[in-house]
Amino acid sequence: MKSVFFSRFFILLPWVLIVIIMIDIDSKRTIRAPAAGRSSRAQRAARTGAPGAGGTQNQSALPVIYAITPTYTRPVQKAELTRLSHAFRQVPRFHWIVVEDSTARTELVARFLARCGVPYTHLHVFTPRRFKRVGMPRATEQRNAALAWLRLHRSRRDAGVVFFADDDNTYSLELFGEMRSTRGVSVWPVGFVGGRAYERPLVTGGKVVGWYTGWRPDRPFATDMAGFAVNLQVILANPRAQFKRRGSQPGMQESDFLKQITKVTELEPKANNCTRVLVWHTRTEKPHLANEPKHRKDTVVIEV
Ligand code: UDP
Ligand code: MN
Repeated sequence: MKSVFFSRFFILLPWVLIVIIMIDIDSKRTIRAPAAGRSSRAQRAARTGAPGAGGTQNQSALPVIYAITPTYTRPVQKAELTRLSHAFRQVPRFHWIVVEDSTARTELVARFLARCGVPYTHLHVFTPRRFKRVGMPRATEQRNAALAWLRLHRSRRDAGVVFFADDDNTYSLELFGEMRSTRGVSVWPVGFVGGRAYERPLVTGGKVVGWYTGWRPDRPFATDMAGFAVNLQVILANPRAQFKRRGSQPGMQESDFLKQITKVTELEPKANNCTRVLVWHTRTEKPHLANEPKHRKDTVVIEV
């Protein structure tokens, strides 16, 4: 009797163990599965620049920030765009309008944008040779091309804020949080411009009453291109507002443009009543390429 019991017991034991192990494996898998899903969603959000996991609903209600970046072919171009993309890809609800100063979209910029992790639009317009001279304003045609694109592709239904982001400046992430609430035209300080460590709007009682600047304080809007943002609806409501070539001097572009769309008394001061510098008008040194061979000496073509 005893031996029958033991023989049955030992026949059944392995099967019981197998079932226990199977149940254990299965329960571990169901615990892990949702966590894996969450992390891949977060990675996807970072890649596309779309809102990340958590807070997705809130973020889709945010106005989109349209950053307009004119850019042109030169040795440091890809490095500059790379630096910018590292900031921009961290900003939710962001759309980068990159306008090349060229007769066609270049392969280098097209390839870069496709992989940079920021939602973008890639445009191009070539600056006529006669405007490519020292003492002439830069990137006028490129900024206007971006404004034309917005007027064609965005409507009254779209909530957005437009900002001019030159490719060599330095942008803090906080700046985008500040400009997001722009209802008309907002302003803030800019570092390393106007011949001083910073230039800033002077604010009294929440209103702009003047400008702290070392260069032409008589400008109606004594601000740099990086010192203001405009609500998308203001751009759409003023379809003729643009950057001017005729009669415009370098450094007066900003003021000439803002005159067409707003008044100083209507400006919205940001960055703690214009007391914090969140963007810097940095300028990149030209790399020294004196030893660069005239004809390619390397065995392969290297994109820089
Ligand atoms: N830029 C351009 N074409 C040019 C020169 C400049 O598209 O021939 C762009 C440049 O890439 C930058 C912006 O225009 O995004 C302002 O140019 P830059 O930084 O040289 O001007 P600065 O800082 O001296 O005002
Ligand atoms: Mn610059």
